Amino acid sequence: MQSNRRLKHIGVWTWSLPAWAGRLPDGRTYNTCPSAGICRHVCYALHGAYLWPVVRSRHEANLRFVLEDLPGWQRAMMAELQASRFAGRWVRIHDSGDFFSDDYLRAWTGICRARPEVNFYCYTKEVDRLRRLVEPDPPDNLHWVYSYGGVQDHSLDPGVDRVADVFPDEDAIERAGWSSQRESDLLAVLGPPLVGMSANRIPVFLKRIAGRRFSTWQAVETAARAARHKATGSRRRAPS
Ligand code: SF4
Repeated sequence: MQSNRRLKHIGVWTWSLPAWAGRLPDGRTYNTCPSAGICRHVCYALHGAYLWPVVRSRHEANLRFVLEDLPGWQRAMMAELQASRFAGRWVRIHDSGDFFSDDYLRAWTGICRARPEVNFYCYTKEVDRLRRLVEPDPPDNLHWVYSYGGVQDHSLDPGVDRVADVFPDEDAIERAGWSSQRESDLLAVLGPPLVGMSANRIPVFLKRIAGRRFSTWQAVETAARAARHKATGSRRRAPS
């Protein structure tokens, strides 16, 4: 369990995987964010300090432990979280990465239930997985927010779901009537349910975002992909 500069000042611990897709030093490939959409083009966790060898190898070690011995990893997490420094505190599951499999998500809900004195929260794009495995009977101490920018965005209903969207800046959040989590990351799960996040001020990312919200960018991307599939399907069906 770690803490970074941004989360440390609000007393939040975090546990992370390497972001999105890659290859481990032993040659195995992985995808820890199978429902990532446009977010992968501007992924903060594929930039800056996240790429430092010490950070990267820690995240890769976390993933290797999960892949090679999920029950052992779960036991280790439960044991670590038993320490008094975690009681009454918050753990952010994934500063990078996501619930990439059913078994992995089940392991986390088991950890939450085993450590009721700890509060857990997460952002996730794994909408279908949480709908199936968590929403029917969530642990009391697990809080989540669905984040736009993924291939399952169309399943989200901002009238019902707690959702987070990335906006070009704080003014855009305010104009849309959403609520910024700038003051504390915990507002993503404890504040009003329409959560606005300001895009990282990384020039190359801002250029790609081009003033759009993640939700609108993803919707355009999804429509374009559907159109491409339809065109390919029509060509395949056309008589030769
Ligand atoms: S889901 Fe998060 S960590 Fe994964 S690619 Fe998207 S922004 Fe990066």
